[in-house]
Amino acid sequence: MKVQLLGLNFDELQNWLVEDLKQKPFRAKQLFTWLHFRRVSSFEEMTDLSLKFRNILKSEAEITVPEQTERVESDEGTVKYLLKLPGGPAESVMIPDPPRFTACLSTQYGCRMGCKFCMTGSAGFHGNMSAAEIVAQLYTMAGHSPARISNVVFMGMGEPMDNWDAVGSALEIISDDRGICIGQRKITVSTVGIPGGIRKLVDMEKQYGLAVSLHSAVRETREEIIPAARAMSLEQLKHDILEYTGTTGRRVTLEYCLIRGVNDSIEEAHELAEYAKDIPCKINLLVYNPVPGLDWKRPSEEVLKRFTEYLYPRSSAVTLRRSRGGKVAGACGQLGASVLLEKEKGPGCQ
Ligand code: SF4
Repeated sequence: MKVQLLGLNFDELQNWLVEDLKQKPFRAKQLFTWLHFRRVSSFEEMTDLSLKFRNILKSEAEITVPEQTERVESDEGTVKYLLKLPGGPAESVMIPDPPRFTACLSTQYGCRMGCKFCMTGSAGFHGNMSAAEIVAQLYTMAGHSPARISNVVFMGMGEPMDNWDAVGSALEIISDDRGICIGQRKITVSTVGIPGGIRKLVDMEKQYGLAVSLHSAVRETREEIIPAARAMSLEQLKHDILEYTGTTGRRVTLEYCLIRGVNDSIEEAHELAEYAKDIPCKINLLVYNPVPGLDWKRPSEEVLKRFTEYLYPRSSAVTLRRSRGGKVAGACGQLGASVLLEKEKGPGCQ
């Protein structure tokens, strides 16, 4: 099997070149620059490498280039890419909000967390993406973006911390200043909270952002929305979040997707305020995007107003996001609609 070059961080690339191909260490910088700074998709384009070396690379390694099967743009400018990756179909989303251009990446084919509001969750799990497949999504979008991609969020198909080896490598690659160089603080990893997951991010000792899909601070409600939450108590989740905020000195984002009749009551708002009061955080309220085939609905404007007015004075930082991308089914919880569900008749982390 050929080595997927896009998935090797700098040290891994250097080791492979030196140990396996018996090349000089300086080759790593050359090759890394071609792959991740110039972002070429073939060995032929690496013109300052000798033909002999290029031929060795060609026989031993591959550059993952997704096939773009569709590109759907909303009126607001959000663009959803349907990509065919080596492991299967995937979706990635570009959210332009000048000067910020954010790429939303998928990490798995489907997801095993089973969140009830989520199209990816309802489509089941079909495998992990490799680091190369994750990085390749970003480079495909960078090739189409009218401006430099400034931010990356891991909020597409899949639970990033359920595929940590690949996600950890992808984080190192895309934040490497010899490559595309997205600043650590401009990259956010989203999680519903799985045992040991946040700990892995903490152990990296970097400045990557963390977003936790909370959706309710009431155990029963949370477990109804996120069946995988049964594996981790709200207390343990808070403990791990505080470890992250304490170690990085950064605030965490608590994502809360408001769903009609499920988590939009004043009691839920109260529990959320209580849960968040001793966490350095910002609360990001999202309004649920209806997903075809799922019963959940968005709250009425009146309920939304009541919930936010209760929360605002009780929490230091609250934002309400009317999720962009809804019109192209590229908003959270809607990814995967057109690929995985079509496959079986399944991306998206809220
Ligand atoms: S919301 Fe995220 S974690 Fe939950 S099922 Fe969907 S993709 Fe998985």
